[in-house]
Amino acid sequence: RMGMVTATNPATGEKGKSYQAHDLAVAREAARKAHEAQREWRRTSFEERAAVIRKAGELLRARADDYAALMTAEMGKTLTEGRAEVEKCATHCDWFAAHAEGYLADEPVDLDGKAEAFVTFNPVGVVLAVMPWNFPFWQVIRFAAPALMAGNGALLKHASNVPGCALAIEELLHDAGVPHDLFRTLILPSKDIAGLIEDQHIAAVTLTGSVAAGKSVAAAAGGVLKKCVLELGGSDAYLVLEDADVAAAAKVAAAARMVNGGQSCIAGKRFIVVASIKPQFETALVEAMRAFEMGDPTDKATKLGPMQSIEARDEIAEQVEKSIANGAKLLLGGAKPDKPGAWYPATVLTDVKAGQPAHDEEVFGPVAAIIEAKDEADAIRIANASEFGLGSGVLTGDPDRGRRIARDELEAGMSFVNDNVRSDPRMPFGGVKHSGYGRECASYGIREFVNVKTVLVK
Ligand code: NDP
Repeated sequence: RMGMVTATNPATGEKGKSYQAHDLAVAREAARKAHEAQREWRRTSFEERAAVIRKAGELLRARADDYAALMTAEMGKTLTEGRAEVEKCATHCDWFAAHAEGYLADEPVDLDGKAEAFVTFNPVGVVLAVMPWNFPFWQVIRFAAPALMAGNGALLKHASNVPGCALAIEELLHDAGVPHDLFRTLILPSKDIAGLIEDQHIAAVTLTGSVAAGKSVAAAAGGVLKKCVLELGGSDAYLVLEDADVAAAAKVAAAARMVNGGQSCIAGKRFIVVASIKPQFETALVEAMRAFEMGDPTDKATKLGPMQSIEARDEIAEQVEKSIANGAKLLLGGAKPDKPGAWYPATVLTDVKAGQPAHDEEVFGPVAAIIEAKDEADAIRIANASEFGLGSGVLTGDPDRGRRIARDELEAGMSFVNDNVRSDPRMPFGGVKHSGYGRECASYGIREFVNVKTVLVK
């Protein structure tokens, strides 16, 4: 029906609850009210805001089972991963409740005694957050906890397949004590986003999602000179060097690839292996990937649930088929199971080369691509020959070698040695090139949506 948004359970294909959609007029009224609310919120103390955000953390922990079940029903995440996601959100709330004041403390400037000067960080106002379905709670809380602690208000436009999660997050924050109008969820089609960005009561915008969505939001924001932060796709490369412990490297690789069924911007997607250990690594990676058997996402033991939707699953299957048609070799998986729902198995491709989707594009599912390199320099070249630059990894027996490559060579926002890339409130998170710009988390994240104001007093 027009104006309704209906959730679909990707494990079964069954329709779930329907929700009334908002329109641009409702959204603009919400922006006006959020702006009013923000003018009061910005006068509250850090202690007052911290009490609210800490309470949000407590409520997240208390409701973890319900929220995990909601994610499973709307986008197919396993219950186990859903619970872990809610706990991560709670930790993030605790972190910013405790550290926002320090991150945003005035910074004195020494002018040789000629005048007093300092830098202060004022909130910018109401930030529009356009968020994706893959981590329906984490993506929102990652942005919202620091934004609210900084004194900003926010409107959430979540992905259309997770309306229940979007409304649950609004309720959570209200229950924690966030003023009603300061944070609102809008069930809004993406065609209305450009119009909302133009609204005088929206100060800035943050988006996590695809490159296409990022370009269109950045263009709309650019047209009215509003700041945006973009966290887009990735095709994270992990270098597997000849001195690596192959079994350990394969475990890290599989864990990096299979997070959230492979549907993560910072999932490891390309494993660039030095030729001398390629056969051993292929065997070890197939073994490690085989452990991710498809199963009911509500079963505690399940490590791989369905993809988020049938359309997304079909796109993954097509990327794999095209890669094989263009010379890739299938080592594991690769076939859609014959049952209802958005299922796709753990898959390993080798001999992946330029001209194949598994090499050139982001594959947003459980498909590991092995790419052969002659040596370290060749591996670095291949890793960097990507439109993306989000995370990256080096798997090596020599931490000094790993540190050098991570620090100086890889074109990415994050580089982890002998571990899989993950986000953490204590470390900045974001990318370069088509993976976007700006950072979330840590001091860098909370300072994205502030006015860095210079004050001089004579
Ligand atoms: P989208 O980028 O389409 O969706 C992310 C968010 O952006 C949703 O809220 C969506 O709303 C909104 N959106 C989409 N198009 C526009 C637009 N033109 N203007 C404003 N907002 C828009 O991601 P998909 O879910 O379609 O996933 C496709 C691909 O995106 C994946 O294969 C992956 O490559 C990448 N992706 C990356 C993520 C990350 O974590 N960086 C997360 C999710 C996807 P609506 O749902 O209403 O369309």
